[in-house]
Amino acid sequence: MQVKPNIANLPAYKPGKPVEDVKRELGLTEIIKLASNENPFGCSPKAKEAIERELSGLSIYPDGAGVTLTNALAKKHGVNADQIILGDGSDEIILMLARAYLSPGDETIMADLTFSQYKHNAQVENAVIVEVPMANGKHDLPAMAARVTAKTKIIWVCNPNNPTGTIVTKNELVAFLDQVPQNVMVVLDEAYCEYIEDPTYPDGLELLPKYPNLVLLRTFSKIFGLAALRVGYGIASADIINDVNPIRPPFNTSRVGQAAAAAALEDEAFIAYCREQNKKGLQFLNAAFAEMGLTPFPAYGNFIMVDVKRSGYDVYDALLRRGIIVRAGFGANYIRITVGSQEQNEKVITALKSVL
Ligand code: PMP
Repeated sequence: MQVKPNIANLPAYKPGKPVEDVKRELGLTEIIKLASNENPFGCSPKAKEAIERELSGLSIYPDGAGVTLTNALAKKHGVNADQIILGDGSDEIILMLARAYLSPGDETIMADLTFSQYKHNAQVENAVIVEVPMANGKHDLPAMAARVTAKTKIIWVCNPNNPTGTIVTKNELVAFLDQVPQNVMVVLDEAYCEYIEDPTYPDGLELLPKYPNLVLLRTFSKIFGLAALRVGYGIASADIINDVNPIRPPFNTSRVGQAAAAAALEDEAFIAYCREQNKKGLQFLNAAFAEMGLTPFPAYGNFIMVDVKRSGYDVYDALLRRGIIVRAGFGANYIRITVGSQEQNEKVITALKSVL
């Protein structure tokens, strides 16, 4: 069968090897996975209780639109329920936005080192990808705004940016939004926003009323620790949500996922704990890198990207053989490490010292 030409050369997403396979192949008894920016502290006990409660209803389809969770999110964020759409992870919101707004030949602007799914989904839609070089590991918003043409449909801004961990400030973002024409959608991916306390970090929710072309992406996969259950969401004007909704598959979030997410949302003590531990973890890693003469990018999420001054892939391999999985592949000498528990952070630094 002839697949569509733009899909023919598109690589499928390559997940990391299952941890159990890696263990067996390398003869390891323990693996520390610091590769996917997951929460090392698991999820809220309240989410686990909610999951247990749902187990008696597994033969029944979920509420397709996830009304209870949507209402809880609307209340929490001070928006209307019709401004929210749930996704099978925020990955699916990215897919739905690309599918709804990008036609073949449309242009879409993104940083040249950012979350892979913006480009991937734009390629699926046969859009023209405009990649703008980062400036010192940060989105170059003025350069991105300068690339807008009559064909531009979506600009993707990842804040903090995965993989570099850097942020654009509120002032920078507002200046950018003021420059971008209102018929161009700006997708602000805030997957890691709950980790950040920095006063210069913009809260997309505050900007929504003024910028009707703005779409926020958020997720339960990171600080809420529910990556396995795949729940993410988009927040935008009711018009945008209304336009995207026909693309959403009927039951795209699960009964268990919706219930766990709603419970996790309310467990502020757990979120505060994770935020605090992450802050300590970042301080520890930054201090350790400084001691080793390495200069990471300023990290704001639950991960940190560092120039290891030799092949990132080689360092990745050497750490893997010591039972630690990090991420390479973001440029010659870089690795990205998820902030783990204190014990995990100490182990990765000890291993890194023996490798470098
Ligand atoms: N956006 C960013 C910036 C991410 O890092 C990730 C996950 N790695 C996602 C979106 C997708 O997350 P999920 O589909 O689990 O919500």
